[in-house]
Amino acid sequence: MPATSLDQIVSLCKRRGFIFPGSDIYGGLANTWDYGPLGTELKNRVKREWWNTFVRSRNDIVGLDSAILMNPKVWEASGHVGSFSDPLVDCKECNERFRGDKLLEEKLGVEATAVLQLEQVQPMLKAEKIHCPNCGKNNWTEAKQFNLMFETQQGVVKGESNTIYLRPETAQGIFVNFRNILQTQRMRLPFGIAQIGKAFRNEITPGNFTFRTREFEQMEIEYFAEPGCTDDAFDEWRESVWEWYTSLGIDKKRLRVREHSDEELSHYSSKTVDIEYEFPWGWGELFGLANRGDFDLSQHEKFSKEDLKYTDPDDPTRKFLPHVIEPSFGCDRTILTFLLEAYEEEELENGDVRTVMKFDKRLAPIDVAVLPLSKKEPLLEKAQEIQRMLLAETNLVVDFDITGSIGKRYRRQDEIGTPLCVTVDFGTIGEDAEQGEPDTITVRDRDTLKQDRIPIAKLREKIAEYWKA
Ligand code: ATP
Repeated sequence: MPATSLDQIVSLCKRRGFIFPGSDIYGGLANTWDYGPLGTELKNRVKREWWNTFVRSRNDIVGLDSAILMNPKVWEASGHVGSFSDPLVDCKECNERFRGDKLLEEKLGVEATAVLQLEQVQPMLKAEKIHCPNCGKNNWTEAKQFNLMFETQQGVVKGESNTIYLRPETAQGIFVNFRNILQTQRMRLPFGIAQIGKAFRNEITPGNFTFRTREFEQMEIEYFAEPGCTDDAFDEWRESVWEWYTSLGIDKKRLRVREHSDEELSHYSSKTVDIEYEFPWGWGELFGLANRGDFDLSQHEKFSKEDLKYTDPDDPTRKFLPHVIEPSFGCDRTILTFLLEAYEEEELENGDVRTVMKFDKRLAPIDVAVLPLSKKEPLLEKAQEIQRMLLAETNLVVDFDITGSIGKRYRRQDEIGTPLCVTVDFGTIGEDAEQGEPDTITVRDRDTLKQDRIPIAKLREKIAEYWKA
């Protein structure tokens, strides 16, 4: 059973150092979150797995790391200045602000609200008797469009001409570098450009922990193909993303693919599907896949007045704008999903309940914990020697814990999802034959709770075997 409530995860994340409320000592800043030591390791691993799967292990995808601040014309060309907005309504009773479309969507579903016009939002909220989630009244202002881009000023002189935006998606950095990459990397269609990075949206209703925040990370790919050849690429992407999530431990039961109806489709997209996860509060988007045609490249050609066409290397007279498939992952939502999915409360034989994070071993923030049974000198020294050996001879993250009883330390490692614990006891140092032979240790498996007694000399082999399985 994964976590059944978000609170279980929020409190474990804070207690164990995965994710803290942002600006904590100043009372926080609403809906900002800081990844702690374990959360940072988990996040790095998620990004590493993503990069390994979608960039390094393929020869048709290259990486990019573009600037967050871009020429404001980029956002005019992409349509974000004109239309990247949500319908905002205020509750006249308590002044809280909400996304009118989302309030309606919760009651009527996505399909019914996809075609909604701005002026219909307030009358529908009234007609459907949708009450303010904050104060419970039904007294709404008319809806107005609210642009989600964060504005800031560049340079020392304040003024309109210096207004720039924090990027609301990583994708546009890819499109504006399309020609640079074509010219320097000799890419042939179909090929993709991948980027991981921060994006910023002044969301009207952030919430549900890291699910919807104003600052978040995306992992995006723009996959370029010949016009007319995008259908197969679209299906392949849907399948490989599904495979990526499930192979890293997300149960298929809590995943679904939802295709956007014609009404819901953005004007530039001929087909969009979302992969959704069943969060404790209901289904929510985890990943989006869109066929964007040549919308972005043609807009950037128009606004920059630069030629962004691809030249067919086999027939240089053929020049055209490729079409693009966009697989777009939310990094923080992906991490939240892995956290929810890994969470288990297990009843043990003695009736105790242990909380265990059953992360896939590629994602667990700590690989191995070395635990000396007592703080006694020769035992401590032996345990430190083993930790040093693991650090020098492997690239594993190794924890060392001497605080509390061994049972408590096992519980702590279970709660942060450490796959293997190595225990050094009096048998190891030749002082208690009942505990084990000299120079042997106990290796405990997080999931099976099986404890194997093995010679120290076999530890690396045992770990390698475990990671291979
Ligand atoms: P939503 O409908 O939830 O607002 P979206 O359709 O606007 O999402 P996209 O523009 O397709 O999202 O962005 C791609 C991915 O980025 C989403 O699938 C999601 O995982 C992530 N994402 C988008 N907005 C946020 C946010 N405010 N906080 C965290 N992740 C986000």
